[in-house]
Amino acid sequence: MVIPLELDDRYSRQTLFRQIGPEGQKRLSAARVAFVGCGATGSSLVSLLARSGVGSLRIVDRDYVEFSNLQRQSLFDEADARESLPKAIAAARQVSQFNSQIVVEPQVADLTPANADKLLGGVDLILDGTDNFETRYLINDYAVQNSIAWIYAAAIGGYGVTMNILPGETACLACVFPDPPQGIVETCESEGILNSVVNLVASLAATEALKFLVGAHAGLRRTLLSWDVWRNEHGEIGAATPAAGCRACGARNFVHLAGEGRPHITLCGRNSVQIHERHRPLNFTEMSTRLQPLGSVRHNEFVLKFWRDPYEMTLFPDGRAIIKGTTDTAVARSLYARYVGS
Ligand SMILES: [Zn+2]
Repeated sequence: MVIPLELDDRYSRQTLFRQIGPEGQKRLSAARVAFVGCGATGSSLVSLLARSGVGSLRIVDRDYVEFSNLQRQSLFDEADARESLPKAIAAARQVSQFNSQIVVEPQVADLTPANADKLLGGVDLILDGTDNFETRYLINDYAVQNSIAWIYAAAIGGYGVTMNILPGETACLACVFPDPPQGIVETCESEGILNSVVNLVASLAATEALKFLVGAHAGLRRTLLSWDVWRNEHGEIGAATPAAGCRACGARNFVHLAGEGRPHITLCGRNSVQIHERHRPLNFTEMSTRLQPLGSVRHNEFVLKFWRDPYEMTLFPDGRAIIKGTTDTAVARSLYARYVGS
């Protein structure tokens, strides 16, 4: 049974919070937000903002659900992991279970310079749920170039960090980190991660997102804020103004958006290599028949998985592949050529 919108009091406790109120709620329902990455931080961000009633959510993620995700990636369950569902699809399904009044657009894709406009264009705010600096610099370049606000958020071990980037106003990511910072480049696999710090960072970032979307700009934090929940330490670095001579927001030199040479990348410390989109639409049924004699193969409408010791290959319908069992891009490329085509 569909309850008419006017009788649905789902946002009543939020609109009672006077800084949001009915007017703020209307603004939220008209807002469009893109989430880049829907792993741990991304799951929590999507969940908070979808429940808050942000009207339009675009969820961009290149990966699929695995059992090792379930400790902290709150939008997924065991069935998603068993099916190896793409995270964007699983997240959209989960959101529709608790808020059917908003629009969710899942995008199973890796953000690249070539598709940045398609995946990030036309939104009011971009939220960072990624696990790598390469993608964050790309988001930063796109956001600064197009004057779209975005919120950086990262977590590793017991440590989390977040910063609002308001192009033309505050420091951008490249102002604060001209180069990828040392110390955060460890991956979740090498350092582990506490689910509590994920939720902390996501909560801080989601609150800033709400302030931004309801127009409470004066209250937005203008610092880089970090927390170590295990050591009970936190710190803040001023980020209210752009750094003199910043490559991105000062010189407007968007090197990461111009980047063409990223045909292969290594994923978050998982002993795996991603082969980027080849614009080679795959027919999973045919592919499955062809690969059957060569190893184990299984597919649904979203992914095809192929196991041949010691490798595990996951293929997406657009031809993208994630090859587990190696960090050698040449090996991955040759496996792709052998089993999928060159
Ligand atoms: Zn800058």
